Amino acid sequence: MNISLIDLKRQYASIKDESDEAVLKVLNNAQYIMGENVKSFEKEFSDYIGVKNSISVGNGTDALIIALKALGIGCGDEVITTSYTFFATAEAISYVGAKPVFVDVNIDTYNIDTTKIEEKINENTKAIIAVHIFGNPCDMDEINRIAKKHSIYVVEDAAQAIAAEYKGKKIGTLSDIACFSFFPTKNLGCAGDGGMIVTNNDDLATVLKALRVHGSGENGLKAYNILNNINEEVEEDKSTDNTVYNPLKYYNYIIGQNSRLDELQAAILRIKLRKISNWTDKRINNAKFYNEGLKETNLVTPVVEENGKHVYHLYILQSEKREEICAYLKEKGIATGTYYPVPMHLQKVFKPMGYVEGDCPNSEYLSKRTFAIPMFPELEKEEIDYIVEAIKEFN
Ligand SMILES: *Cc1c(COP(=O)(O)O)cnc(C)c1O
Repeated sequence: MNISLIDLKRQYASIKDESDEAVLKVLNNAQYIMGENVKSFEKEFSDYIGVKNSISVGNGTDALIIALKALGIGCGDEVITTSYTFFATAEAISYVGAKPVFVDVNIDTYNIDTTKIEEKINENTKAIIAVHIFGNPCDMDEINRIAKKHSIYVVEDAAQAIAAEYKGKKIGTLSDIACFSFFPTKNLGCAGDGGMIVTNNDDLATVLKALRVHGSGENGLKAYNILNNINEEVEEDKSTDNTVYNPLKYYNYIIGQNSRLDELQAAILRIKLRKISNWTDKRINNAKFYNEGLKETNLVTPVVEENGKHVYHLYILQSEKREEICAYLKEKGIATGTYYPVPMHLQKVFKPMGYVEGDCPNSEYLSKRTFAIPMFPELEKEEIDYIVEAIKEFN
C-alpha cells in the first residue's frame, strides 16, 4: 500500500464537476482580478469565521506582512512569537523591519509557552504573534490577558488552523488581526497560492485593503486619513468597475504592495469553504483512530490544550528513534514528514541575533523527535489501520 502525507487528487476528484464548472466560468467572464468570486468569497469567509471584515491577499506570508504593516510595526519594534513554527511567521516580522523575539513552546501542546512571554516584553514590544501550530489552538485567554496588560497587539497566525476553536469560538476571532493561508496542502487550500486577513476593526480593515493594492484610490485616501488622524469625509467611489478603468487607481496615498487573491482561486475556495466543516470532522475522526490505535505504543500522540478544538492540519508523533521509524514506514509505502527540523532561533539567518543552543530547549528537543504521518479527510479507515499496524510492528 502506498500512502502519501496528503492526497490532493482525492480531494479534487470529490469536487471535480463543480470546480471545473466554476473555473471555466471565470475564464469565460475574463474578470480575473477582484471580481465577483473574490467579493463573494470574502463575504462568505467572514460569515464562516464570524468576523466583520475579511481581506483576501496573495498568500499567507503576505497576510502576516500586511497585518504587521497595518498595525504600524516596523524598524525598532519587537514582536514576540514561538520558536517552533513555519519560517514565514518569523520572516514576516523581519521583513517589516522589526525584530522577532522567540519564546519556547509548551512541551505537550507545541504552542508558545505563555508563562515565558512576559519576561520578553519591553518598551519596544508591539505585538505577539500566536501560532496555532499543526491546528492546535493556543491558550488565547492568557495571551490576550498579557497583551492587554502591556497594551500590545495580538495577531493570530491561523495558517494551519482554519475551523479550529478555542472555548467554542472560532480561531481568527480572538485577536486584533488573524492571518490564514490557502497554500494547497493547508486544510482549506486552493490550486496555487492564496491568503486571508480577518479583523473586527473597520479602520484596520480599510488600511489592510489599501496596503494590498498600492495604497491607491478612495480606499487609499481613507487609509491615509486614518493613519494620519485626519477626520474628513472621503467622497464615495461611484464607478461600477473599481479595478481596471477606475481613474482613482492612479492616485496613491500610502506605500502598499500588490498582493491579491485571484478570481480563479476564489472560485475554487468558495466551493471548498462549503466542505470545510465536513472535512474537519473527518480529520478529527482520523486522529481519533490514530490516538486509539497508537495508545499502547511508546510514541507521544498529540495533546490538545484545554478548551481547544484541534483540526489536525498535521498529525504529529514523537519518537526518540525518529529516523529509524520513518525509514521503516517508507519501506512499507507510508510517507512521513519532519515538522520542523530547525527551530526558529537556530535558523542560520537569525544567527546574528545571538541565539544559541539551549535558549529554547523544548523546541530543540521536539525538532529532533517530531514527525508527521498521513493525515487528510479522504484517508480511509483501512489505510489508518495499515499505518497503525506498521508503527506497532516497528515498536
Ligand atoms: C503555511 C504557513 C504560513 C505561510 O503561508 P503561505 O501561504 O505559504 O505564504 C505562515 N505560517 C504558518 C504557520 C504556516 O503554516
